[in-house]
Amino acid sequence: MKFKDYSIIKELKDQLERMAFKKPTDIQFKAIPAILNGEDVMAIAQTGTGKTAAFVIPILDQLVRKKRGKYEGVRTLVMVPTRELAQQITDVFQEIGKDTDVKTFGLYGGVEQEAQIKRLNRKVDVLVATPGRMFDLISQGHLDVSGVEHLILDEADLMLDKGFLKDIQDVVKKIPKKRQTLFFTATIDKKIKSLAYSVVKDALRIQISPKNPVAKNVDHAVAFVEMDHKRFFLENVLTEYEEEAFLVFVRTKVRAERVVAAMERVNIKTTFFHGGLEQGERFKILDAYRKGEIRVLVTTDVAARGIDIPAVKYVVNYDLPEDAENYVHRCGRCGRGRNKGQAISFCSKDEEPLLQTIEEYTGENIARLELDPNEYGQILFDADDPNYDWQKLIDQDNDFWDKEDNW
Ligand code: AMP
Repeated sequence: MKFKDYSIIKELKDQLERMAFKKPTDIQFKAIPAILNGEDVMAIAQTGTGKTAAFVIPILDQLVRKKRGKYEGVRTLVMVPTRELAQQITDVFQEIGKDTDVKTFGLYGGVEQEAQIKRLNRKVDVLVATPGRMFDLISQGHLDVSGVEHLILDEADLMLDKGFLKDIQDVVKKIPKKRQTLFFTATIDKKIKSLAYSVVKDALRIQISPKNPVAKNVDHAVAFVEMDHKRFFLENVLTEYEEEAFLVFVRTKVRAERVVAAMERVNIKTTFFHGGLEQGERFKILDAYRKGEIRVLVTTDVAARGIDIPAVKYVVNYDLPEDAENYVHRCGRCGRGRNKGQAISFCSKDEEPLLQTIEEYTGENIARLELDPNEYGQILFDADDPNYDWQKLIDQDNDFWDKEDNW
């Protein structure tokens, strides 16, 4: 089945064609007909599966077909856990709905609220919001959700992790009982199930790749690298694939900045991205990365979820994540849609237990990159660091890590 065979309005079909969306992905194939039919949906699917378009397409179709009446407030409310995700989903609504008159607005904290209030005073059909700012504006009387027709909870598991349960329950009380609810989560457990069943009615349940949560089109490999040698191995891969976009995950903000500094010493341009940056700066960096103006982004788990940059082919786990679930989310940043991705992890001796936990969690063995001692030595030898005094660097690094507050 192709998008042109769906019973959706022509404006959407034409735009999907222009975006080179020809065939639906698995989740789109399963969810779109039910959503068009007005049914509730509860889906377990990660980002990378095409889940955003799975709700954006049928929601836009419904909003265009069913004109708004006297009610002037928001018609579709999408609740998300992070500001980046709010902006990204807003962009998808605006892009797919380019030829429709549906107005979408992303609402989140970290930016001035005056301009947001002004925008809300003109009509907004789809509001994509993080909970905090949304509640501020509802309680100040600037935001009307009393006639919401569709409620979408995206990355519901992360919303629970971030402590938004009460916010979700509160908003559900403010919107009509008679509505369509779409519930998306990357993982499932008792708490998430109980939240899901408290908001959806007779929902169609969809589960994408149930046993194996790791995106199918991503290849995984791990190299055993000493902690102090990781920078040389990163230099090696970034040099070998010098045309490709990389997302490099490290454990802490400070470490992100230090990896960037280490790459700078060998003339490899990289940029750090972490939660310590101002929101405006964070958007600017992501935008430049999306446009290909930044090739290598070094980041913490703040960028592990939600972010969609189709060009990212390589994810490097410079440090293994403490939480096995984040391994899945990090690797889901590459191999988006129908693209292929490659995830490579640097595992030091101390991190071996983490590797084991990740493999238990995913139920898959990660391919070992067997480096014989000659190859390993060669990578160190080829490293172009002008200081060239590895031992000095290693000592510096050890001193640094001995100080607790640098974490
Ligand atoms: P998501 O899982 O919603 O973050 O989407 C992942 C990526 O897949 C995005 O870059 C989308 O633009 C892309 N995508 C979604 N649906 C399709 C489709 N049917 N055909 C091609 N690419 C798609």
